Amino acid sequence: MGDGRKLDTQLIHAGEPSPRPMGAVTMPVFQSATYEYGGEGEYDALRYLRLNNTPNHAALHTKLAALENAEAALVTSSGMSAITTALLATLSPGDHLLAQRTLYGGTHDFVTQTLARLGIDCTFVDGNDPASWADAVTETTRVFYLEAMTNPLLEVADLRAAAQFARARGLVSMIDATFATPVVFRPIDVGFDLVLHSATKYLNGHSDICAGVVAGSAERVTEARRLLNHLGGTLDPHACFLLQRGLKTLGVRVRQQCANALLVASFLAEHPAVERVAYPGLATHPDHARAKALFDGYGGMLSFEVRGGSDAAERVSHATQLFVNAPSLGGAESLITLPAKTSHVGLDADLRRELGIADGLLRLSVGLEHADDLIADLRAALG
Ligand code: PLP
Repeated sequence: MGDGRKLDTQLIHAGEPSPRPMGAVTMPVFQSATYEYGGEGEYDALRYLRLNNTPNHAALHTKLAALENAEAALVTSSGMSAITTALLATLSPGDHLLAQRTLYGGTHDFVTQTLARLGIDCTFVDGNDPASWADAVTETTRVFYLEAMTNPLLEVADLRAAAQFARARGLVSMIDATFATPVVFRPIDVGFDLVLHSATKYLNGHSDICAGVVAGSAERVTEARRLLNHLGGTLDPHACFLLQRGLKTLGVRVRQQCANALLVASFLAEHPAVERVAYPGLATHPDHARAKALFDGYGGMLSFEVRGGSDAAERVSHATQLFVNAPSLGGAESLITLPAKTSHVGLDADLRRELGIADGLLRLSVGLEHADDLIADLRAALG
């Protein structure tokens, strides 16, 4: 748990080895699959790369736990590996889970296809309607699963109420906090049991690796690690090294991305070719007050709808010079994408519209370029 130091200090110093190996100021890569047997008494303690206990893993686990104010953390080979491992470690055939309606597509498919095949049913609920949650709970409900901000409309559910609701009913609360990062929101502090991340995004921050995180109590993280040891979703030591390096600048990166996103959102909100902007930092966003109360900053993601529908949106997505037309998010480079054609292409078109994801909706991951240049790029593309 936290030692009282501020997040920016934890990002640099938490989990770093002491003494420093050979005096190295930054953590070296321990590119070894196996380690000398030291009399370990159980399988999971053997020092072997798949068992997630090399020096690079251990350093990251301590740092990530400190950042989330959690007892323990586990790094995984991708965000989906973190999400699927956490769910499978908690649920058994016959169990039921509650999940927020607008989940990341991969999670949605895993829940509705793979978990369903294993005899684990899900009821989707509106994260903004706590009164409806109790009706959805059954005798077999075990988990309440939410996201810190939904994709692509950046809705912020009643997260404090969700954590309390789960605790009161003995459910395990899980939250995918990828869009928020610990700079913006620390879910353990409001009562969540498990925090999940795609570290591919902001935590690493350079769009050059795939990684994930599970953080929570020592007991739950140990259960997840034992399962991950069997599933084999281990992060390679070199990717561990890159993630550890990326984390050191998380604070300055995310604060700058929040500032840039607010400027870009404010510009778009005034532009005549733009129909609406979804950014929780704007007073016009339906969840602005909640985001203001829960978060420290509003994140680097936003979406907007252009007049002229899907064709106009497609033209804009190809006309930007700085915003690269690509899925994913959270890196230094700003990205633009059409959710109806990428992240949400698998959803039925009617359901997409029902969820407010118009065909002409564009999503931005605002990066670290100067805000003036990003705005100029969008102004030209919209013109
Ligand atoms: N969660 C969210 C909110 C995401 O946006 C993504 C990927 O886009 C994931 C999870 C999955 O992460 P990964 O691609 O690292 O498996």
